[in-house]
Amino acid sequence: MKIAIIGIGSVGAAVATAVAGTGLAREMVLFDRDGLRARAAAEDLGHAAAFSYDVKITAVNNYRGVRGSDIVIIAAGANQKPGETRTDLLHKNVAVISDIIPRVMANVDAAHVKLIVVTNPLDVMVMLARRLAKLPAARVIGTGTMLDTARLRTILARQLSVSTQSINAYVLGEHGDSSVVAWAPACIGGVALDDFCRQTKHPLTAATRQTIEYRVRNAAYEIIRGRGATWDGIGAAVADLVRCIANDERRILTVSMSDGAGRGAVAMSLPRIVGGAGVLATLRPKLSAAEGAALRRSAGIIRKNYDAI
Ligand code: NAD
Repeated sequence: MKIAIIGIGSVGAAVATAVAGTGLAREMVLFDRDGLRARAAAEDLGHAAAFSYDVKITAVNNYRGVRGSDIVIIAAGANQKPGETRTDLLHKNVAVISDIIPRVMANVDAAHVKLIVVTNPLDVMVMLARRLAKLPAARVIGTGTMLDTARLRTILARQLSVSTQSINAYVLGEHGDSSVVAWAPACIGGVALDDFCRQTKHPLTAATRQTIEYRVRNAAYEIIRGRGATWDGIGAAVADLVRCIANDERRILTVSMSDGAGRGAVAMSLPRIVGGAGVLATLRPKLSAAEGAALRRSAGIIRKNYDAI
């Protein structure tokens, strides 16, 4: 499998490391408008690969280098500075995606390629990339709330003393400030969350749930405050998505994809079955009335931002 990564900043480099670590890529090509940066990353990663999998990693200085890619990952663009929201990046990153997508599409096999979008504001960038690429929606996939879902599961695992692997709980909607924690359908080991809490004597009060939601939504802000940017979590999320596609695993991931048509079209995260052909199906979990309203509000915010570009 050949995988191209466009944008080799903090996120692109972490994605490259994590994807190389899956052992699934035979060849990886890295492109950045800063060629020196891409070449340095390819060198460094190439040395690291000598200790693990035999993957050929090269920096390319034009888009011809992405020819033959099965998956193209877009991690280029401005990131949040302390205090900035993802939406604040909208106009800068519209220009970046508009620059990249036509060049990628001129060099890949449109009948086969899958695009993975990482650039923020994520959901709007998925809609824009899909429009520019003219690919089926199922093959223009945003990492969406995969990371937010991982954050939720990590917090719940600590709170409830159970492995993240056994927690079936999702964050839906925008990868941003209006994301929705879906408490109603959450379960652990096949047991509804409320029942699990009763049986294991780990109460999750309304106030605790609110605090958890706050921590999930604010995780990126906290990390940016301390580290300048976030990269390890998203690197692992992209590698997991690549694994799911490459092995046709058909796991359920909260990825973002454009749904609907015309003025009602919007990209946001829902639990979706992901496999070799991209998104294979979308699931609609049973939400509470408040969660359903929050999800509609979140979709409205994404659509409004898309209409503003
Ligand atoms: P960064 O500034 O470290 O790197 C961005 C890179 O993009 C730079 O190397 C730059 O040269 C390159 N670039 C910019 N415009 C380009 C173009 N037109 N063509 C090719 N390369 C171009 O930023 P970062 O921290 O790596 O973040 C990258 C993006 O990922 C941001 O939009 C950030 O918000 C987003 N992000 C998303 C998630 C998520 O969960 N989806 C998580 C973290 C970061």
